[in-house]
Amino acid sequence: MTPADEHLRPEPGSIADLYSEPGFGVENLPYASFAPPGGNPQLGVRIGFRVLGVSAIVQSDGTASQSLLKAVDGHNLDGLLMAGRSTWDELRGLITKQLVSADATSTLESYDLHDVTLFMPFTVADYVDFYASEHHATNVGRIFRPDQLPLTSNWKHLPIGYHGRSGTIVVSGTEIPRPKGLRPEPEGFPSFGPTRKLDIEAEIGFVIGGSAPGGEVSLSDAQNFIFGSVLVNDWSARDIQAFEYVPLGPFLGKSFATSISPWVVPIAALASALVEPPPRDENLAAYLDDSRSPAFGLDIDLEVAIDDVIVSRPPFASMYWTPAQMLAHMTVNGASLRSGDFFASGTVSGPGKEQRGSLLELTWNGTDPLAMPTGEKMSFLEDGAYVVIGATAPGPLGTRIGFGEVSGRIMPPT
Ligand code: CA
Repeated sequence: MTPADEHLRPEPGSIADLYSEPGFGVENLPYASFAPPGGNPQLGVRIGFRVLGVSAIVQSDGTASQSLLKAVDGHNLDGLLMAGRSTWDELRGLITKQLVSADATSTLESYDLHDVTLFMPFTVADYVDFYASEHHATNVGRIFRPDQLPLTSNWKHLPIGYHGRSGTIVVSGTEIPRPKGLRPEPEGFPSFGPTRKLDIEAEIGFVIGGSAPGGEVSLSDAQNFIFGSVLVNDWSARDIQAFEYVPLGPFLGKSFATSISPWVVPIAALASALVEPPPRDENLAAYLDDSRSPAFGLDIDLEVAIDDVIVSRPPFASMYWTPAQMLAHMTVNGASLRSGDFFASGTVSGPGKEQRGSLLELTWNGTDPLAMPTGEKMSFLEDGAYVVIGATAPGPLGTRIGFGEVSGRIMPPT
């Protein structure tokens, strides 16, 4: 333990000493909106398999400012997101201090994770979904545009993205009815009906706090606006998508549901996961040129399970564009940034076949189905399919930072 990490050492009998578990020690401390049994929703923080009310922790300290008390008083992260970076750091320091202190244990009430209800962690303002994995974009290009170069000519000059539907972002566990839409048919006329190609997209999402009314968030300023990170499953209907996407891009094939994990991992907890992104192949415009910026790639290992079978392990470290570049790009034109804005990375796919983050790629658009242990072949998601995406990242001192999971079950069409 280095002197810098000394504050993380739990005293015997402290909450951190009693309850820490791998992935959820005092070096992580993710936030959620939770309700204790019979109680109202409030902002919570997790250690091991216990959840504590953040407001109660802050009050137990006795030295907290009125502004900090107010920021954590709501039913979710909204107040804290608005308060900005200095308040986030103050709160994280205060929570750490209380959870490693044996004196504080008797004053802090904690709840078993299995007894609480979890809600959407924040109110989503605007939602942008990127396309930042070179391996994913290359695979999709080969599948959808086999007669052209797989990467479009703009791909290595800017992080491609589109504005998604914030109102259909849902929390993990929400059931996903099979969406309906226009599906291409071999005869040339589309047919209307339930999607036949329902898919997943394993992604990492980033939660914005603070605001930049004039946009133009620089690479070096990104860390002041990115509050934390969640797991994302950006459900996709590939047949609806394939018919509708020309020329304006994704629409109803994506907007029916996007699931996120309930725990928001503070970006401060991911300091040990920061890595250099892959080498750049093009000279980048100054606002995207990160050759002299601190590394903002993230070494996050994802895992995708369908019906309890692990089908993929996508590596986020292989992403070409970093979250800082995505944020700089989406604001460079002066587009305002608001507290509660949310952007996702796009499907995370590594170079290996077993590292692909969508069934489109894993089964090559259904032409090479996955052989499941039950003996069944799976191309896309059937009704009843249960998808769980998890992830961990390196923490300080050889620890891991857990993201928990984002899950969802496919229901028959309504
Ligand atoms: Ca996506």
